[in-house]
Amino acid sequence: MAIQILSGDITKQHVDAIVNAANSSLLGGGGVDGAIHRAGGPAILAECQELRRSHYGKGLPTGRAVATTAGRLRARWVIHTVGPVYSEDEDRSDLLASCYRESLKLADRLGVDSIAFPAVSAGVYGWPAVSAAAIAVAAVRDTAQNVSDIRFVLFNDEVLEAFRQAMD
Ligand code: ADP
Repeated sequence: MAIQILSGDITKQHVDAIVNAANSSLLGGGGVDGAIHRAGGPAILAECQELRRSHYGKGLPTGRAVATTAGRLRARWVIHTVGPVYSEDEDRSDLLASCYRESLKLADRLGVDSIAFPAVSAGVYGWPAVSAAAIAVAAVRDTAQNVSDIRFVLFNDEVLEAFRQAMD
């Protein structure tokens, strides 16, 4: 298993699966979620709506992951996971780690060889970059699975630097 830290737009990655930092509604949002739906087109949203009608009537719980196809993206799958909103009063680290664990285990079941992750919860959900990066890298390293090419694709310099340090 190789882990890479890359700078850029996750929708441009040539990987089997792109992970989306979704919200529990699965019906789209801003940040990386908006970028993935814009780049992938309406097929992704249609599958998310179907998931809401079937298995996830109340939405996808925080820390869980679910896959849809990837529409016009080059990836085969989008794996949607819901990060926790950062809280100073409550330690939600295990929910954030769970996003990475559950996404990787799902990717493994789908036979994925390569996967790209954004910095889940490190945007609108307010998780401090250094902590978000440490949790992400540890969770990926500690999850037993067969995905050989794992990439963190970071969109801003502070988060990029935090992930580089977490890898060292
Ligand atoms: P959350 O609500 O989980 O915090 P956000 O989408 O607001 O999710 O932010 C998560 C991270 O994704 C942030 O670090 C943000 O800078 C980054 N991001 C936004 N757009 C993209 C993109 N196109 N590719 C990769 N990362 C992105």
